[in-house]
Amino acid sequence: CHQCPPGRQPRLVLSHMFQPQNLREDQVLSLEGRASELTCKSQRLMLQVGLILPASPGCYHLMPYTVRAMEKLVRVIDQEMQAIGGQKINMPSLSPAELWRATSRWDLMGRELLRLRDRHGKEYCLGPTHEEAVTALVASQKKLSYKQLPLLLYQVTRKFRDEPRPRFGLLRGREFYMKDMYTFDSSAEAAQETYGLVCDAYCRLFDRLGLRWLKARADVGSIGGTMSHEFQLQVDIGEDRLVVCPSCHFSANKEIQNLSQNICPDCQGPLTETKGIEVGHTFFLGTKYSSIFNAQFTNAHGDPTLAEMGCYGLGVTRILAAAIEVLSTEDCIRWPSLLAPYQVCLIPPKKGSKEAAAAEIVEHLYDDITEAVAQLQGEVLLDDRTHLTIGNRLKDANKLGYPFVIIAGRKALEDPARFEVWCQNTGEVVFLTKEGVMELL
Ligand code: ATP
Ligand code: MG
Ligand code: MG
Ligand code: MG
Repeated sequence: CHQCPPGRQPRLVLSHMFQPQNLREDQVLSLEGRASELTCKSQRLMLQVGLILPASPGCYHLMPYTVRAMEKLVRVIDQEMQAIGGQKINMPSLSPAELWRATSRWDLMGRELLRLRDRHGKEYCLGPTHEEAVTALVASQKKLSYKQLPLLLYQVTRKFRDEPRPRFGLLRGREFYMKDMYTFDSSAEAAQETYGLVCDAYCRLFDRLGLRWLKARADVGSIGGTMSHEFQLQVDIGEDRLVVCPSCHFSANKEIQNLSQNICPDCQGPLTETKGIEVGHTFFLGTKYSSIFNAQFTNAHGDPTLAEMGCYGLGVTRILAAAIEVLSTEDCIRWPSLLAPYQVCLIPPKKGSKEAAAAEIVEHLYDDITEAVAQLQGEVLLDDRTHLTIGNRLKDANKLGYPFVIIAGRKALEDPARFEVWCQNTGEVVFLTKEGVMELL
């Protein structure tokens, strides 16, 4: 367009974004339609800046900034899953009832399962998880050889659960994104090894996001199996009760059976209690599902053998909201650096102000940053709402949590021009020349 220099990518400007800004608390409440359900900080903040908009109870529209953050999260997940040999697939959400009847979960899952019928009267559910589907898929491959194992299949898809109490925004939805991985091994020992491999990948993932996690011993619940761990973030609004050993770092979900309430089983030291939100869950399944669907491979002697399985969930949308819950202040969203929807927000001066002449300097800065710093292509946003004061736009930028906010004020007209740079993750504010800005970024 005429505003963009020839041969350059168009500049990203805030005024074109489909992104409501700064909704008042009462507007947010009326969006949710259920005042009493505005139950946590991440939900309130995400609604206020229009990261999510309610569609129906427990279902949200994910707005452009959120989709960007989620795509970044999925990229990190892909890296970690593929680094351990994961292969990405995508299974249908519509899951035939007969699969669920085979494992008895059609009844066991009760009302959490969203059920429907097609025009022929055939029954389905909307997949809340995919153990049945993936095991039937693997079982359909009759020529699987032990040489192809371990087989690690995963997907990132929408899951559906008719939660009794959907709340806390994206933390507990009725429709949400999950990364679910399913592993197939030739022996229980090999499957244990794979279990450790995936758990380690989860630890790395949460470390990269800068989130402090706990790996807690957990109950196997309706999924079944013989061993299970939950990855938990410590948050006040967490719905899980955990016990933690301060001396040896043992931790467990309180709901597991036969857990003494005050003796650490590993070091016998005293346990303390805390609350957590479950962001990931791993299960060692053994042959529970492979025996039902006959998921076999041929072993080294040419004999058919049942696969030893594991399954591993990560709450993708829950991680986004949980990260915001733990990192943000009461008024300002903070993201894990890797996930911030945009890395840099540039604020040119107000139209008609004394500094208005610096507008062009900011546009050059925009072009230079995106040209020189390859990683920042598509990551720099120009807040072109120049009818607003710098102060008002800085407030919005602060709230949205761009890692870097760069302002052209009075000093941008000096020679050399200097910009006010807010580094949100360190809380520093510095004045830098264009070269200084480039170096910092
Ligand atoms: P919760 O105990 O919170 O109900 P769950 O144990 O039922 O979770 P799993 O079946 O273990 O959940 O699913 C794997 C992951 O999916 C969970 O660790 C969580 O991160 C995510 N998840 C589960 N339910 C929801 C939901 N309603 N909304 C968003 N994410 C969810
Ligand atoms: Mg649940
Ligand atoms: Mg749970
Ligand atoms: Mg769980």
